[in-house]
Amino acid sequence: MLIPAETTAVTIQRLSMPPVSNSVISRHVAVIGAGAAGLVTARELRRKRHSVVISHHVAVIGAGAAGLVTARELQRKGHSVVVFERGDQVGGTWVYTAMLESDHLGLDPTRTKVHSSLYCSLRTNLPRESMGFSDYPFFSRDDPDRDPRRFPGHREVLMYLKDFAHEFRLGELVRFETEVVRVRLMEGSKWNVKSRKRDEDEAGFDEIFDAVVVCNGHLTEPRIALIPGMNEWPGKQMHSHNYRVPEPFRDQVVVLIGSSASAVDISRDIAGVAKEVHIAARTVGDETLGKQPGYDNMWLHPMIGSVSGDGTVYFQDGSLVLADVILHCTGYKYDFPFLETNGIVTVDDNRVGPLYKHVFPPALAPWLSFVGLPTKVITFTMFELQSKWIAGVLSNQSMLPSQEEMMEDVKALYSSLEAAGTPKQYTHCMGISQFQYSNWLAAQCGCPGNEEWRVQMYLANGRNRRARPETFRDEWEDHHLVLQAHEDFIKYTSNVVSDKCV
Ligand SMILES: Cc1cc2nc3c(=O)[nH]c(=O)nc-3n(C[C@H](O)[C@H](O)[C@H](O)COP(=O)(O)OP(=O)(O)OC[C@H]3O[C@@H](n4cnc5c(N)ncnc54)[C@H](O)[C@@H]3O)c2cc1C
Repeated sequence: MLIPAETTAVTIQRLSMPPVSNSVISRHVAVIGAGAAGLVTARELRRKRHSVVISHHVAVIGAGAAGLVTARELQRKGHSVVVFERGDQVGGTWVYTAMLESDHLGLDPTRTKVHSSLYCSLRTNLPRESMGFSDYPFFSRDDPDRDPRRFPGHREVLMYLKDFAHEFRLGELVRFETEVVRVRLMEGSKWNVKSRKRDEDEAGFDEIFDAVVVCNGHLTEPRIALIPGMNEWPGKQMHSHNYRVPEPFRDQVVVLIGSSASAVDISRDIAGVAKEVHIAARTVGDETLGKQPGYDNMWLHPMIGSVSGDGTVYFQDGSLVLADVILHCTGYKYDFPFLETNGIVTVDDNRVGPLYKHVFPPALAPWLSFVGLPTKVITFTMFELQSKWIAGVLSNQSMLPSQEEMMEDVKALYSSLEAAGTPKQYTHCMGISQFQYSNWLAAQCGCPGNEEWRVQMYLANGRNRRARPETFRDEWEDHHLVLQAHEDFIKYTSNVVSDKCV
């Protein structure tokens, strides 16, 4: 098709409007003449390749932080988006509820599930500056109803996510109280998504999508420690997923298993009311075992060796205690009960795979993807980069390697984990390697990676937590990084930058 150069440029500008359906729009353009006008036009056409919209109909499962930013990035690229959310509001994990599941250990598959694992006293363990999305800073607001602290309580994070959704009108894309019960691969690499509205249509409702992005969170399905004798042990056992407030533990002897951030918080919470708190941890140095400084009712032990029918808990060093409660703060399992991929994607000992760069199953890419699987990371900005990448790939602006090459990459990751002695269950656990990963994602999207202040703040916070485990949320030394963050944030509050990516 021959189109005069000037007309072409105008046509393409108009196409940058988000399309409403899942049509594919592209133009094969001939520019006649290689004079100044022709060359400029050709350059603009190439630059505006991004504006020649390829739009797909995409289902996003979940309206937590991952689902919200995914919806935003997909919509930015002109895809039509439906977000399915089984809850009645956005925010996912950050929607605190006092409700508990009927089975406090979370073993009964028929139990009614509660999504959030938050406890009432929870404050963030990352400073707010580092938590916010890259162009929507998590400021403290000048509002008496808001929590201005640098490590705010959970409600403040929920309010931030609601502000984010409101700012970018994401709520309009969400079908609330609508659970995805099945995602089935159809012929021609389309997806049949069956959803069910709460209290309605038992049979569910089937729809066809070009692509599905799974953002269902992974901190809901408890993983528990398997302890010899646990079925005969007469006391109460529960998982931290069902911990909300310390009061039920008043005057009790509690054995808490775990050493994660939640285990640290909950042990302190409970020590305020319990008779004794005994923490059993797999990775503790001998020098830290025993009575904990600052507490007259808290002890650190090695892992539990076994428990017996008379209520005794035996630790691996031979010490023992008669306890009322065992509280498993032992993490969560990835779970995708709705996903039917003919065995292409599996969860094996908490490894979701095979996934190219923790996002795309090579055999189903780019039509199925996952946002939010990595752990021990700066979550929101990582979700943002993963979803930018997905949106770019679906728009043909970022190219994936061949299926074979992606599989080779996955195998190389597995081999390197094995060589380093990393158990399978930590496949998605990143820690410090997250920065290399984020920079890689950013490069795929033509974006800058994490800001240097954000990286340094994450590292400084880690050091501060180790140095001041009790007070790191209220005492810190990285004031210069806070200043740098705020200098950066001015760009977004003054509308200087709207999108950092090319
Ligand atoms: C106790 C605790 C403390 C934490 N502290 C921090 C912190 O300080 N800083 C930090 O950055 N992160 C923290 N996190 C991690 C937190 O989980 C992430 O920050 C982030 O909120 C995860 O977002 P997500 O969207 O991936 O998942 P979620 O927030 O879990 O959202 C998933 C959503 O999917 C919906 N959903 C699930 N299945 C379906 C379905 N079949 N159909 C429809 N909808 C479905 C759920 O209802 C939910 O709304 C903490 C987590 C916990 C549990």
